[in-house]
Amino acid sequence: MEATLTRNRKKVVMTAMRQEQINMRLNQMPQTCRGVYRKAVSGKSLRAAVNAFCLECVGYQRIEIHLCTDLGCPLFAQRPFQRSKQATDVSIDG
Ligand code: SF4
Repeated sequence: MEATLTRNRKKVVMTAMRQEQINMRLNQMPQTCRGVYRKAVSGKSLRAAVNAFCLECVGYQRIEIHLCTDLGCPLFAQRPFQRSKQATDVSIDG
């Protein structure tokens, strides 16, 4: 019983801490990137997770994902905006 309570308390604390960190990140990123980030952290879309990770990697500059030169990055082949000529105009919907 005590162990279960401790586990539940840890889970509640972790959930609160995670939400706090998510909110901090949301406040630090451009509004245009928040939708894909929310979808990524919901855990329901690997596509959104890749897109959000790449956006964060390059400081939220979409053109920099298109121009990425890190050929050894595990996400390189799956990064968004690979074929976009106007990467800055493309919307991210996860
Ligand atoms: S593919 Fe490029 S932009 Fe995406 S995470 Fe890797 S290094 Fe960053």
